[in-house]
Order: sequence, then C-alpha cells, then structure tokens
Amino acid sequence: MTARGRVMRQAPVAVTRFAPSPTGRLHLGHALSAVLSHDLASADGGRFILRIEDIDPGRCREAFVEGIFEDLRWLGLGWDGEVVRQSARMHLYSDALARLRDMGLIYPCFCTRSEIVAEIAASGAAPHGPDGPLYPGTCRMLSTEERARLLPDTPHALRLDMTAAVALAAPLHWHDDRAGTVAARPEMFGDVVLARKDAPASYHLAVTVDDAAQGITDVVRGQDLFAATHVHRLLQALLGLPTPRYHHHPLVTDAAGRRLAKRDRALTLEEMRRADADPAALLARLRSGDLTVGRLYQKA
Ligand code: GLU
Repeated sequence: MTARGRVMRQAPVAVTRFAPSPTGRLHLGHALSAVLSHDLASADGGRFILRIEDIDPGRCREAFVEGIFEDLRWLGLGWDGEVVRQSARMHLYSDALARLRDMGLIYPCFCTRSEIVAEIAASGAAPHGPDGPLYPGTCRMLSTEERARLLPDTPHALRLDMTAAVALAAPLHWHDDRAGTVAARPEMFGDVVLARKDAPASYHLAVTVDDAAQGITDVVRGQDLFAATHVHRLLQALLGLPTPRYHHHPLVTDAAGRRLAKRDRALTLEEMRRADADPAALLARLRSGDLTVGRLYQKA
C-alpha cells in the first residue's frame, strides 16, 4: 500500500522449478534445464524449487534421488524451500481425477498393452501422436453394464475422453518464449492415460496439478516436452488452473546433432565429477548456449 492507501500492483516474481524423475543419474540435459530454471528465478529475485517426480514406483530409485541432490550440490545450484516429492502428493492427483470424472471426462481402460497393439494392428491405419500410435478408444465404447462388471476385479487405467474434453475447453493457447503464442492441439495425443494401472497418476496430471499448486510462473524444460504442453494446457483449462509461461530450451546434442539419453552413462554429471570436470566452467558453457556435448564434456 502507498501512503494514500492505493494498492501497488506488481508483477509476481518468477517461481520456477527443476523437476527430475529419479530413474537414472542426471546428465548434461538436466544440468541445462536446472541452470536455466535457476537463473530465470534468480534474475527476478524469485524462487527456484526442486520437485522430485517419483510417481512411477517401478522405475524410480531412492539412490537416484540422492544422486540428484549430490549433482545439484556439485553444480552449485541451490534451491529454495523444502524439496517436494510427488509420491507424497497422490491425494492431490486423486482429487483432480475425481473432478474430471464428475465432469464425465474420464473412463476406465481395461486393455493390456498387447491388446492395444493387436487392436491397432487389426485396424490397419492407426493415427500416430507424439508418443506413438493413438489408443483406438476400445474401452470408451464399453456399455455401462460391461464397465460395471469389469471394474471391481480388473486392473485398469483411467483415460481422458479427449474429444469430449476438447469440445468443452477449446480453443486454448499458451505462450512459449521461443515459439510465441501456440494454439493448443491436445487431440494429437488421443485419449491420454491420466492414472496408470500401477501408478495412481500419470506425468501429465501430476505435473499440471503441481505446477499450479506450487505457484510456478515459468516452466523451464527441454524441447522434448514441448508437445506435452498441449495436454497440460487442456488439463489446466478443465481443472480451472492458471497457465504458466513456458520456456522450452534446445536439447544438448552430440556432434552429429543426436539428443542425449540416459543410456549415455559416460555423460552423467556423476561421471564428469569423477573425471574432475570443473562445474563452474560447465555452467558457464551451458549459460552461453554451447550445447554440443563434446565441448561441454571437457575438463576445464
Ligand atoms: N520429470 C520430467 C523428466 O524428468 C520433467 C517434467 C517437466 O519438466 O515438466 O523428464
């Protein structure tokens, strides 16, 4: 408030996050996301949050959570406040699912992976989305009786009825700092899974709920997750959540321009530390936009 009692309007300071999944050791691509996200918050006097995306019990390991702390400490990137773990927030994702179910936008899917593959093969021309062939909608077509019969004893995922959801929410847009205003096209994913048979929330649902719950103003992540934002924007609209600004950064590549994968073990930050690399020099190269792994992976 000013002396005259007028409320001063201020843009909210940036709140960013680094949100790795502890399914392996961090590599150079993670270091890039972390440093860009960290710097965006600190340039604004804002907050940089660390969120561990450990909803997948089959793939996440406690040792990799420790590895994340170790690697960020080695890089000298400190985070603000408590570390948030998605495994402790399942109730939030269940609440969001219940809302979508009450809106009539969710259905149980009893198909096994091999049934889906067979169904797609039989249909001849299955449309493809960013994650592969689209689910053909088999369980969307089940009768109420059939669903009620299967529900109690058959393992099932929960899928979003994409056509119904888009009809309710479209048209939608979001903003990316390199791509500009983007028209949301979540329909290219088909009926996405929002809760899996073995994990009560999917990446799409958990990340959307948490970005809103944590007041994230700016999502900084790799270009490989650009398409996923179409789905996140739709979920935000359906759940009445705010839309952050997006900063999808280019990926670290090898000399041939191929993106890095977790299997490239020699390129983990752990390996670099063992090889006596200089973390400050590494951060300086990442900040300067030098994203070719051969040059990043030098002893400085
Ligand atoms: N947990 C995701 C990953 O490790 C990143 C999530 C995000 O930044 O939205 O790939």
